[in-house]
Amino acid sequence: MFAFNFNNTTMHIFYGKAPLITFLKSIKIGDSTIGFVPTMGALHQGHLALMKKSLQENDYTVVSIFVNPTQFNNPEDLAKYPRTIEEDIKKMTALNPEIILYAPTVEDIYEGQTVSQSFDFDGLENQMEGKFRPGHFNGVGTIVKRLFEIIEPTNAYFGEKDFQQLQIVKKMVSKNNLNVTIIGCPIFREANNLAMSSRNERLSIQERSEAAIIYQTLTAAKEKFKTNSAQWVTEWVRKSFEKNPSFSLEYFVIADEATLLPCFKKNKNKKYRAFIAVFINNIRLIDTISLN
Ligand code: AMP
Repeated sequence: MFAFNFNNTTMHIFYGKAPLITFLKSIKIGDSTIGFVPTMGALHQGHLALMKKSLQENDYTVVSIFVNPTQFNNPEDLAKYPRTIEEDIKKMTALNPEIILYAPTVEDIYEGQTVSQSFDFDGLENQMEGKFRPGHFNGVGTIVKRLFEIIEPTNAYFGEKDFQQLQIVKKMVSKNNLNVTIIGCPIFREANNLAMSSRNERLSIQERSEAAIIYQTLTAAKEKFKTNSAQWVTEWVRKSFEKNPSFSLEYFVIADEATLLPCFKKNKNKKYRAFIAVFINNIRLIDTISLN
């Protein structure tokens, strides 16, 4: 364990699972609860909102910072992923020094075998992110399951920004009868409504400002979906991005929230959501909005 001193407060930081497990055993008495927030670091207000919720709802909050190599299908994306651990520690200490941080090494998690387990998420993994990022959700499933085994949280907090991931984690928990409650949290946005993301760090000021078009398009799509079919709206979004040379649209999909299957014919009993992935200057951004 390592105690980080900042403004005369100390935070518990663990780089290895063995001392973390011992520490958690020592503090967890009776029916006290552990809230868990898994992250890949480069923390922003969206991450901190998840931590605040966990701090409010649990006796202890564990945050992990781990850039998980097995969920990256693109080596350049992995290499360029921002790593700002010292800044992250300052932000967490300022929020609440009682947060317990687990920042493992790749070796601590994978023990020499940096590979994913194979999961069946009942087809949720075959849509959108799963289509365009082969192996991504096996990597996500592998790391989340491993972290749950180490931390044994009561509640775990995930952002709706990665809505497909949220559904997949819920599926993994129910299929494996894991004893943890998964809590989805709303998307935290910049002033121009760009969804906060660690990857935004890589955008220039100009790109960050232009990226406001992503959420503008989603809200316009929501409006248009009231009176048009999913196919019509999808085509409208494709054409709007075609006119904009700064962006390359990877996908725009209107899907059933529960199954994530694309909507072909509207059913008033189903909840729909629009999902988008776009590249701006090789930086991949995703966003989503509930449609009804
Ligand atoms: P990441 O570090 O990107 O893996 O994200 C860690 C957790 O924070 C995931 O559950 C994300 O869905 C969540 N998250 C990331 N960005 C946001 C945001 N803008 N608003 C809410 N949650 C977010």
